[in-house]
Amino acid sequence: MDTQRQVLDKLRSSFKSGVTIPEQFRRTQLTKLTYMIKENEELLLKALHKDLAKPKFEAVLSELDMVSNELYCAITNLSSWMQPEYVSKNLATQLDDCFIRREPLGVVLIIGPWNYPVQLLMIPLIGAIAAGNCVVIKPSEVSAATDSLIAELIPKYLSQDCYVVIRGGAEETAALLQNRFDHIFYTGSQTVARSIMQAATVHLTPVTLELGGKCPCFIYGPVNMEAAARRLVWAKFFNAGQSCVAPDYVLCTKATLDSLVPAVCQVLEEFYSKEPQTSPDFCRIVSLKQWTRLMELLGRSSSKVVVGGQGKEEDKYIAPTVVVDVAEDDALMQEEIFGPILPFITMESLEEGIEFVNRREKPLALYVFSDESSVVNTVMENTSSGGFCSNDGIIHMTLPSLPFGGVGGSGWGSYHGRWGFETFSHRRACMLRGWALERLNGLRYPPYEENKLSW
Ligand code: NAD
Repeated sequence: MDTQRQVLDKLRSSFKSGVTIPEQFRRTQLTKLTYMIKENEELLLKALHKDLAKPKFEAVLSELDMVSNELYCAITNLSSWMQPEYVSKNLATQLDDCFIRREPLGVVLIIGPWNYPVQLLMIPLIGAIAAGNCVVIKPSEVSAATDSLIAELIPKYLSQDCYVVIRGGAEETAALLQNRFDHIFYTGSQTVARSIMQAATVHLTPVTLELGGKCPCFIYGPVNMEAAARRLVWAKFFNAGQSCVAPDYVLCTKATLDSLVPAVCQVLEEFYSKEPQTSPDFCRIVSLKQWTRLMELLGRSSSKVVVGGQGKEEDKYIAPTVVVDVAEDDALMQEEIFGPILPFITMESLEEGIEFVNRREKPLALYVFSDESSVVNTVMENTSSGGFCSNDGIIHMTLPSLPFGGVGGSGWGSYHGRWGFETFSHRRACMLRGWALERLNGLRYPPYEENKLSW
């Protein structure tokens, strides 16, 4: 088996050979990736079910369809993305060709997490291939079945000289990070992101950090309570709450809470029955480590459980859980929940809620549910977050035309659609100049007589 160093040397020499540069090569690789997803749908669904008990519907919607849509977007737009972008000129550059040329960065590293183990690896990969890079793909070892399947499939479909899967956990990834990359694209927790950045400083490698945090959901003023409850429950309990853009907690007034919580409980029963553990539509927690973290978090919380709260270790099951009377210093408010526990925090006014959110790290997504556009606009204009969506959750990230990424503590940089291509490209500023007007150029050569400045 090749060592990490040998693999990276191979990728480096492939990149230097220029094989990834032609549009046709990139298009062929993207098309092969499309076949990989289509021809292995059943295997991918099986792996995702093994890792997280993902229902077929959720897996198709949030993993396979998202990847296929991104592939379609990249293949359709590749040619136009690769064109030089001509820029405006000033008087002194009228005769020059001035343009931005998108060039690949080189050999890049993509490190993925376990919660959407297909799309969170494949969508950055699409951007990296489209931009003409060679890529090391590092899936999460925690979603072991998908990790192993991806390692098996990628070499069957993509050029083995240019795209390589390297597997492993923290130790292997730390070793990998000692090598020089031209870009590191990391999706995962803020804690690990710090080690990634530390490693990146050695070679001054640019990084994209797709992180998490606590995504707030305001529910304020008159609102279609039934629809709000359905959309909230769907967004929160999709993938059993293990989504970086899941609403982490709800902010509402006491009056809203009194009608919203019963509506949420009713929707939970409609979606997952009275016995959610028997529902084929409810995921499992990915690992015992995460299961224990979540159960301990719930145990440390002094808030009131309205529904749920039960866990079954042998099944890595945690019931969809709703908690109220959650104080700002409650355990549930000290870290990203990343599981099926939904706390409700009461606020006296919208301004109080906005201040609450602004006291914390900037979230990856921020949601507001209200019938009144003035409420939506007030929240949008007075807060900051990676993405924003009114009257729904998660859904904004399915659109390849919107950049996806965080701000502040929720991450740096973005991808999806053209934004992924941009992330993995260098925008080279080019000016092509001929030999004309040399006498005019004389104006800028020494000796610098005073009257040259008044020209
Ligand atoms: P994680 O940070 O534990 O692991 C992510 C990747 O990092 C894995 O491939 C893992 O092998 C590797 N890794 C783990 N420890 C490492 C170390 N010490 N050194 C180097 N590499 C290491 O994250 P996770 O638990 O897989 O994912 C959960 C987090 O990711 C949550 O915070 C969530 O919000 C965030 N997330 C963000 C997005 C996004 O798009 N912004 C998407 C999904 C998840």
